[in-house]
Amino acid sequence: MSIKITTNCINCGACEPECPNNAIYEGGKKWKMADGTTLTNKKLSINLDPTISQNPKNEDIYFIVSEKCTECIGFFSEPQCVIICPVNCCVKDLKNIETKEDLLKKKKFLHG
Ligand code: SF4
Ligand code: SF4
Repeated sequence: MSIKITTNCINCGACEPECPNNAIYEGGKKWKMADGTTLTNKKLSINLDPTISQNPKNEDIYFIVSEKCTECIGFFSEPQCVIICPVNCCVKDLKNIETKEDLLKKKKFLHG
């Protein structure tokens, strides 16, 4: 499943550079599927043009784009944001449950 950031986030920014999928953004920042991935102009099943900027998922605190989070599967044995967050506010997102197989497929899709 994806990881999410709770409202306990103190905006320290430590997690953002650790994400191998570029799935973490500062509050208020626009994001793209193509950021940090090999996706360019191919049409996505999730109906997002990878090259078009999307609106922030949170205006005030860092947020994780669940469409890009693989729980670090394919890169690391543990979610890097969870390890590094000083206030333990990176937690499992129970609304976005995916199997390890699904996450590995997502990783291959993002970096194919
Ligand atoms: Fe990025 Fe890994 Fe955190 Fe997901 S779990 S947001 S892939 S660092
Ligand atoms: Fe927020 Fe934790 Fe990321 Fe710092 S490491 S920006 S507190 S989620």
